[in-house]
Amino acid sequence: MAEHNQVWNDCLSYLSRRVNRQSFYTWLKPTVMLGVDDSTMQIGVPNRFVADWLQEHYSDLITEALRSVTERDCSFAFIVSPHCEAAQTDMFVVRQHFAATAAAKTAEPWNGNGCKMCNELSDRYHFENFVVGDSNEFAYAASIAVGKSPGKTRYNPLFIYGGVGLGKTHLAQAIGNYVIDNDKAARVLYATSEKFTTDFINSISNKSIADFSNRYRSADMLLIDDIQFFTGKESTQEQFFHTFNTLHQNGRQIVLTADRPPRDIKGLEERLLSRFSSGLVTDIQPPSLETRIAILQRKAESDNVKVSADVLSYIAGSVSTNIRDLEGCLTRLLAYASLRGKEVTVDIAQHLLRDSIPSVKETVSIEQIQRRVAESYNISPEMMQAKRKTAEVALARQIAMYLCRTLTSSSLKGIGAAFGGRDHSTVIHAHKTILEMIRKDVNLKLRIDQITNSLYV
Ligand code: ADP
Ligand code: MG
Repeated sequence: MAEHNQVWNDCLSYLSRRVNRQSFYTWLKPTVMLGVDDSTMQIGVPNRFVADWLQEHYSDLITEALRSVTERDCSFAFIVSPHCEAAQTDMFVVRQHFAATAAAKTAEPWNGNGCKMCNELSDRYHFENFVVGDSNEFAYAASIAVGKSPGKTRYNPLFIYGGVGLGKTHLAQAIGNYVIDNDKAARVLYATSEKFTTDFINSISNKSIADFSNRYRSADMLLIDDIQFFTGKESTQEQFFHTFNTLHQNGRQIVLTADRPPRDIKGLEERLLSRFSSGLVTDIQPPSLETRIAILQRKAESDNVKVSADVLSYIAGSVSTNIRDLEGCLTRLLAYASLRGKEVTVDIAQHLLRDSIPSVKETVSIEQIQRRVAESYNISPEMMQAKRKTAEVALARQIAMYLCRTLTSSSLKGIGAAFGGRDHSTVIHAHKTILEMIRKDVNLKLRIDQITNSLYV
């Protein structure tokens, strides 16, 4: 067995040189060697989705890696296994798979919004202009999978959750736009949960409930955004439950978004919660500094303006969580620059953003982060640089590195140096580890949020 483990470890290190870092961490790193059965290597993966993804995208490369390591051809299979990193499994809660029935489209006329029918879909949101980083790669990949075969994957419903301004609406609408681009006749209906609620209430007062039901229940794809607002609205929930079931039974794709995972949405009926969790649940995390810079770059390019890398880094370093605010800052700056006929410099950016946008706070320093985290964990700040460490200190240190990476614009090298001369890979590892931990540990997330908040008061 040790020998098989070694083979797989060697393969992973081979693969890590052949695929980019982000994809490696997302898809390959969470795998483990389970053993060999009937001369087939059993490779453990955290969930079905990863298995499908590896099969589709990496099987040739894995074959090549195994050949290079073992000097012969080996067959392999992906097995969903609880031995894989728990953090990863939680990212994709695949509780129950519904075999999607290949449903024939109903003959009744469509009286939804249509392609005109989907006039709620904005043309701004596409996969092409969605920047992928390690904070959103899973959600993105799942969205593409659903967009390619709506209703035909096991990811039904697809449930995307994450904080404000992190791209949930963008992804949901990109799925809808993608489906329509591929099939002009597809009946895609996008609505916020508030719109669904008002439509329902209006249909009661207009005595047109049948029209309402018909409209929502004859969609090929239904996208409902921000379903946390269904909380406490019992009869709307009831309606939605029936709509959901009808669509689901007919093999139609449903995509839901919310600001938190299904289990944390209070005031939703149990049967709805279990429906929502029955396909694929995936999250979007706040983007890392690199992703934030990439998003700004993409935006500047699409607006056809040149902004220096310094300015982009400054903005990305100042606004760390909300992508909407991030874009807002750039827009403001560009507006200012064009009005004054000036080129944007870091000085102007500093001046303008600090004065006019309250949500943009001063950037915090590595030292402040270390001090706050140490305080929270009741250890002395010097422990952040110490060689010797207990598990508690190790965790505190990783949290501090994670925060430095998300809240400051310091380089990986700079951060490593401030933690007793660690190298950049230690910082990357810490960031990744904490990102995974907060996905499954709400309390830890809360604690880190508190530390973050306290840095800005
Ligand atoms: P949410 O629905 O999660 O609150 P949105 O989808 O409305 O967030 O995103 C806020 C803004 O940020 C939108 O303008 C969106 O296009 C942009 N945005 C979010 N994530 C990305 C991304 N990964 N790449 C490019 N733009 C993004
Ligand atoms: Mg939204």
